[in-house]
Amino acid sequence: MCGIFGYLGSNQQAGSLILDGLKTLEYRGYDSWGVAIKKNDGSLYIEKHIGKIGSASLPSFPAHVGIGHTRWATHGGVRNENAHPHTDCTKKIAIVHNGIVENFETIKSDLNKKGHTFKSETDSEVIAHLIEEIYKTEPNKVKVMQKLRSHITGLNAVITFFPEDESFYIIKNGSPIVIGEGDNEFYIASDASAIIPHTKKVYFLEDNEMVELSKKGVSLFDTKGVHQNITYTTLTYAAESTEKGSFDHFMLKEISEQPKILRNIGETQKTEIKKAADEISSSYGTYLIGCGTASYACLAGTYLFSKIAHRHVNFAIGSEFSYLLDFLKENSLVFALSQSGETIDIISSVKKAKEKKAQLLSLTNSQGSSLYRMSDHNLLLHAGPEKAVASTKAYTAKISFLYLIAHQLAGTFEKGKINLLKAVDEISQIIQNKSSIQSLAAKMKDYKSIFILGRGVSYAAALESALKIKEVSYIHAEGFAAGELKHGVIALIEKGTPVILFNPEDETYEDTLSAAHEVSARGAHVIGVSSKNDKVYDTFIEVKNCGNATIIPNVVIAQLLGYFLALAKGLDPDKPRNLAKSVTVK
Ligand code: GLU
Repeated sequence: MCGIFGYLGSNQQAGSLILDGLKTLEYRGYDSWGVAIKKNDGSLYIEKHIGKIGSASLPSFPAHVGIGHTRWATHGGVRNENAHPHTDCTKKIAIVHNGIVENFETIKSDLNKKGHTFKSETDSEVIAHLIEEIYKTEPNKVKVMQKLRSHITGLNAVITFFPEDESFYIIKNGSPIVIGEGDNEFYIASDASAIIPHTKKVYFLEDNEMVELSKKGVSLFDTKGVHQNITYTTLTYAAESTEKGSFDHFMLKEISEQPKILRNIGETQKTEIKKAADEISSSYGTYLIGCGTASYACLAGTYLFSKIAHRHVNFAIGSEFSYLLDFLKENSLVFALSQSGETIDIISSVKKAKEKKAQLLSLTNSQGSSLYRMSDHNLLLHAGPEKAVASTKAYTAKISFLYLIAHQLAGTFEKGKINLLKAVDEISQIIQNKSSIQSLAAKMKDYKSIFILGRGVSYAAALESALKIKEVSYIHAEGFAAGELKHGVIALIEKGTPVILFNPEDETYEDTLSAAHEVSARGAHVIGVSSKNDKVYDTFIEVKNCGNATIIPNVVIAQLLGYFLALAKGLDPDKPRNLAKSVTVK
């Protein structure tokens, strides 16, 4: 979702630098892009396009300052005029914006009455004109930005660029923004991965802080506008780890990285896992929250905690948790899962939970992210940057943590580790033999619907598997609790409908097999995923039993199936339509 990249320094090719910066943020998902660059001759160069940047380049002209934006439309269609940056009436102010100005309609009609002319349908453009209006009577730009902040509602990040004096003013509430300082040069980005190739010295803005960035340097102001010293963080990860390497797609690269990542979790994270288990043990109640893939990891967590640790944990979808948290108490524990640590639906729920004084434990892949900084206790996934929009390695890393925490709570960490390592061996095999899944995908690519069934923790796996297939192949895929079949879903089964059944040899085995017979009797093409073959399966995919950790290889099969279905349909699995990696708007 929305990428921002700004530059001020001595590099005279600011245009291509900014475009390259935006490209590193492409994985976040966007539908249009634009730049505002001050040419060395003093003029402001603005270019906007719908679609992907691809191989686009800007005309070559000397320039050393500017800002770029990739837009994920919320208000106003995907049109050139709606792409950012937006300017005021005088073209002396250019802004880029991430988020939603919730009260933009009121502001817009007010500004219309004052004679402002709007060129776009966006909520964002009001910001440029509002600044213009405030600036008429308030010459101090820091104060202008403070007034702007008090006028707009919603979760936003705004970068205001004044080309005349080559200054930037950055405010944020909710949406992430990081600045980087190099050798006499400065970077602004919505994600540190775009800054890393240039400098590791970064500062993550906190909500309601403001940064002024100009040739004179960086000034940080707190919520009240009081000047503060800035303390930089030094990032530790390397730029190379965000490259595709020899893989055709990030998705396949990230699927293939899973054995190494999960093994590492089993072998190195015992101390962190113990700390998390202690937090859960001493809490009044634990509430797992996550969105999308993370929500399905949370759901799996509820089964794993129940089965392994005989412990009840609650689960809520991140975007719903705000409406469910009235019962939180001071010693309640909110356990929030988010790959990016920036998911706005999680951040805003968690803020409300913190107002109720609940403790916050987070499991993220992003050190220094908003969620990480807000948390009382942190766990890091150690999965490395995940660039494909559809989450794979972050999901199985989350499951591995939840699985081992459950075992730690039960006092059986070592047993859990053995099963996890079995699952690691199993996924290595599946990845090695991926051509069989590729052949299956070739046969399934023209189906309109795919159903995935499972019971217990395999039900949670079915939901995640269906999401993966939907996200990248655009085939309608639904996960269901196998027992629910006869309560309605079976009406959807037609001759040839592919039905995947997760049927590990656990207490769900016989009942799930009955579901296989029920759909087979109605003509479904039954794909059994199990350690034990049965004649009811039209296609059998063997997955060895790894106890409750079998969910991991089962989902890896669906990841590969989704990937190969996308390829078979000629789609780019890394950048599915309409989706964004880091969901930073509500
Ligand atoms: N709400 C703004 C728009 O629709 C910003 C969207 C974004 O964050 O990219 O233009």
